[in-house]
Amino acid sequence: MSRLTPAWLRSAASSFVIAMLVIASPAALAQAWPARPVTLVVPFAAGGPTDIVARLIAPSMGRSLGQSVVVENRTGAGGTRGADLVASARADGYTILLHHNGMSTAPALYRQLRYDPLASFEYIGLVVDVPMTVVGRADLPPKNAAELLAWLKQNAEKVNFAHAGPGSASHACSLMVRRAIGVEPTTVAFQGTAPALVALEGGHVDLLCDQTTQTLPHIKSGKIKLYATTAKARVPMLRDTPTLIESGLKNAEIIIWHGVYAPRGTPPEAVSKLNAALRAALKDPAVVARLGDLGGQVVPESRQTPAALRDWLKAEIGRWTPIIRASGSYLD
Ligand code: ASP
Repeated sequence: MSRLTPAWLRSAASSFVIAMLVIASPAALAQAWPARPVTLVVPFAAGGPTDIVARLIAPSMGRSLGQSVVVENRTGAGGTRGADLVASARADGYTILLHHNGMSTAPALYRQLRYDPLASFEYIGLVVDVPMTVVGRADLPPKNAAELLAWLKQNAEKVNFAHAGPGSASHACSLMVRRAIGVEPTTVAFQGTAPALVALEGGHVDLLCDQTTQTLPHIKSGKIKLYATTAKARVPMLRDTPTLIESGLKNAEIIIWHGVYAPRGTPPEAVSKLNAALRAALKDPAVVARLGDLGGQVVPESRQTPAALRDWLKAEIGRWTPIIRASGSYLD
């Protein structure tokens, strides 16, 4: 700016520079966050159980943040593609991930994994625990769990077991059932259990393990046949249905847990605002009631923290890695 520039313009310009410096300072950035919508990545298909949880918490989180939380489905490779996408996204708090147990099994299952669940993320908090159900197409001959297990043994080579891709929860659950009774039916991978359920209802596949969050309404309408549940105890709204353990499959227990993650390096202010928004969503009576109606149990407040998610994930990786390594199964 030359000496000939009028004084008013010089002073306006310097105020502008000062304003830009203030806006760009870390404190101002923290205050301004979030200045635009946050993308919540779901690594499975729309309409499935992980997506249902995401779409239940997103509007409530958005209200707390004062910005929309937009759910985006980035499917593939049993959930590892969506997780990878978030791990390598800009660490500005605007891209976050909702994932489940798959986060703890992927490091052992995939040798080429491009992210490290314990090094590539910031942790926002645990969300909800959901049991699975073992369901079949409506006209599958067995009438109950005991008949199903016997029928599976006799018809293994004719049976199609659907799942949401290698390393997904439905894949792990089907593996658990298959190994427990020593059969190897054909498995069919989908981009999530939403399309798998459509195939089951259409009679194109025979069996599926899936969270109650998706299966309950379909069980109630009689479109699919319920055989067993996968938690240690019976599911309250499915009191008459035995667990897999009760049906004779020792140690066959799986509960699906969910966590929210941000890329490593996300500013602490954004992490803490995201955590506060998550905790507020998990206190929202409408969210809690809907998750409960779908068989889910919101985790207690002490588990809704970044540290609780990290510790839980670390423990789960420690639990699954030796088991998977010993089985020698890799998916890539
Ligand atoms: N239920 C799926 C799984 O088996 C994921 C999904 O579609 O939400 O991992």
